Amino acid sequence: MRRGCISLGEVKCGDCQRTIPYPERYLAIDEEDGVEVEKGNTVHYCILCAIEKGYARYKEIKGEMVLTFFQEPDVSDVSQD
Ligand SMILES: [Zn+2]
Repeated sequence: MRRGCISLGEVKCGDCQRTIPYPERYLAIDEEDGVEVEKGNTVHYCILCAIEKGYARYKEIKGEMVLTFFQEPDVSDVSQD
């Protein structure tokens, strides 16, 4: 499963190995052999890596770009990129 978290400055990205500074957001996700699973090893990804892997995206809400970690297709979002 996915959880959006706020770094306290001690979290390292599991992909680019960058230390994620406070108060940057990051993604905690359970993976098994690089594939998302319900329960597995928890891996942390910085925003950039999460976006690159398709785990996060920017969404426009009321004229502002807001980062979302989405679990399921957003039914209210009908646009196809
Ligand atoms: Zn990263």
